[in-house]
Amino acid sequence: MEDIGVHFPSIWKHRPDERQLQAIIATLEEGIQLWDSEGKHLYSNPAIAALFDFSPDHPPDEFSFSKWPCYRDDGTPFHLEDYPVARVLATGLAQTRVLLHIVKPDDSDLWLRMSAYPIFDAKTKRITSVVSSAADITQMMEQGRRMEQMAHYDALTRLPNRVLLADRMYQAMARSQRSGETLAICMMDLDGFKPVNDTLGHKAGDQLLQEVSHRLSDSIRGGDTAARIGGDEFALLLGGLQSLREFEMIVGRLLQVISSPYTIGEQQVRISASIGVTLYPNDGSDPDLLLRHADQAMYLAKQAGKNQFQLFDSNQDQRLKANRGAVRKIEQALEQDQLVLYYQPKVDCRQGSVLGVEALVRWRHPVMGLLSPAEFLPLIENDDLIVTLGEWVAAEAMRQIVAWQKEGLDITVGINISARQLYHRDFSRRLREMMAGQPESVTRRLEIEIVETTALEDVSAVKDVIDDCRKLGVRFALDDFGTGFSSLVHLKRLAVDVLKIDQSFVRDMLNDPEDLAIVEGVIGMAAAFKRTVVAEGVETIDHILMLLELGCDVMQGHVLSRPMPASQVAGWVRSFKPDPLWQMSSSPRPTRDYFHLLLAEANHRQWHEEIMSGLHHMKGLAASNPKLDDRSCRFGQWYYNEGTRRFFSLAEFRALELVHQQLHQHAKEICENHACLSEGERQEQEARLVLENLEFVHLLRQFRHTLAKE
Ligand code: C2E
Ligand code: MG
Ligand code: MG
Repeated sequence: MEDIGVHFPSIWKHRPDERQLQAIIATLEEGIQLWDSEGKHLYSNPAIAALFDFSPDHPPDEFSFSKWPCYRDDGTPFHLEDYPVARVLATGLAQTRVLLHIVKPDDSDLWLRMSAYPIFDAKTKRITSVVSSAADITQMMEQGRRMEQMAHYDALTRLPNRVLLADRMYQAMARSQRSGETLAICMMDLDGFKPVNDTLGHKAGDQLLQEVSHRLSDSIRGGDTAARIGGDEFALLLGGLQSLREFEMIVGRLLQVISSPYTIGEQQVRISASIGVTLYPNDGSDPDLLLRHADQAMYLAKQAGKNQFQLFDSNQDQRLKANRGAVRKIEQALEQDQLVLYYQPKVDCRQGSVLGVEALVRWRHPVMGLLSPAEFLPLIENDDLIVTLGEWVAAEAMRQIVAWQKEGLDITVGINISARQLYHRDFSRRLREMMAGQPESVTRRLEIEIVETTALEDVSAVKDVIDDCRKLGVRFALDDFGTGFSSLVHLKRLAVDVLKIDQSFVRDMLNDPEDLAIVEGVIGMAAAFKRTVVAEGVETIDHILMLLELGCDVMQGHVLSRPMPASQVAGWVRSFKPDPLWQMSSSPRPTRDYFHLLLAEANHRQWHEEIMSGLHHMKGLAASNPKLDDRSCRFGQWYYNEGTRRFFSLAEFRALELVHQQLHQHAKEICENHACLSEGERQEQEARLVLENLEFVHLLRQFRHTLAKE
């Protein structure tokens, strides 16, 4: 009696005889073979013959398929000694449900599920033969593969889809962790795909996508992945990167490959790609977040002009996130009435009258106190909230104009409007609506200062808004004039009433001849174009005097008043008294020499203050300091060059030299000796210096006035 290596439960009521058994085996769809203890073929049923394309009359003498390439289901090759029959003979153990992937000579696939069982001699317990079965599961496997293809691959391009991408990402991230190499996660979006799709049709669009996919697959390395995850969106996983340089080269090549021309039908088509990249494990986020980061970077690449890549910057991301939070907070501040307007007077210093005020927004922060616009406006600069804020400012300013008019104070209120608001489609409509209920006496008092004029891209669109609003009586000013390259264009094209000289020029005009030249230039330009000119950031009386001399009458700045709450404005205006010094200034069209003298005077005041404050702090200037040399100070430079050439014949000019020299000489002595002076001596010396300085300034002014009269 022979024993079969495994126990099969007997479900047979009847034991078939040999003929019946043969019939059963012959009709089985599953291949059955019998082998002897040496592995020699004894028997194959007809199903086997069909599987391996041999005639039952010429059965094989070895394993039927051993000459064909054969693989396990994971793709590794199957060696002869691994075949189930060989394993049974080697181990004496049954081998069940082993999967074999065979590639037949005609290149077709054959998938088999094989089992093999030993048959033992009942007495000796030695293997007498082996029975093997082989089921053809090719169809099942192919169907499975098709389903897997559908689940994991994009039908149009045959690239992995989002599902498989996620899987590959896990694998690639694990690999990168093991190897310590960088993995680049890229999101790629085609630039200019939509127009192709729209003009050439969807079929052309599909072809283009297929071609892009081919190019992508051809350009990446074996272990890398290119996946299609949406219409014209692709994701790439580029692993094993040793350096940023290497990655830049790969992405650079990809950009080049994608942007070379395509032939679709008869047409030549050009597109490009924008790629956003984040690098793992530098960016240690989870797969979802990595993709999102790459996507954000891709968006930036688009914004930056397309056909390029951008690396995700986590700091920037933090900023963006913080910014979103900040925008929300400012929105709440607006809802909760935490924003207030402060008002800074604009004064006509020649007339000695207050013309109006500029409304400057402040945030009364419950914790941080009063915040200036520079601390929060930049956060909403690119958000629609800046438009809402502008509407609030306009409404609040008009409410204030009415309130002041009721108090008998009829002044202009300037509000600041950003370029972005001006572009907003509804701006003039909203303004019109806001003004609809207001009498003309109110709208006439509103002045709109356009800030960030550098951002005015479309001057003609803004021109329309301005023209619209001017019909309502509103006046316009160009704020911070002189800073933008295109200030001049704006001046020519836009119907603005006022130019506000940027405070940076005003602040430095007393020390910096170039800034002085700009201020002078703007004032001249305003006169030529018949616009009012306003100087802002006027911090000292010298500024006022200089500006008056230059022909700019209207000013705004700390020396006049800092911005203040609405409640203080009426009181301030009532108690306002012009400084008698302002009246002293003459206003002929100043000459170049006049400027130099003005500048020299202001410089001198500075020089004097510097020396005095040094002495006060017991420091003094080093004797070698060029400021102590009467030919090296700014006045000296002018005096001994251009001044001497032009004015040496004037006695008033020559009178300056000696006093100036003495002043310097004296200052030098004090600086050298002041450490050894007693307190009393020091005070005496300082007083002398003050007097000498006054005398010098007096002479300077006399000379200036002589020039003005000429
Ligand atoms: P701006 O319109 O050029 O306003 C003048 C700024 O200079 C104000 O700063 C004012 O306080 C400051 N200032 C005035 N006189 C002096 C001075 O003598 N010395 C110095 N150092 N500064 C002086 P503030 O209030 O901080 O406003 C800054 C900017 O914020 C404004 O510049 C304007 O561009 C913007 N801004 C203010 N309020 C609003 C608003 O309601 N909407 C918009 N869109 N922007 C606003
Ligand atoms: Mg302003
Ligand atoms: Mg300004």
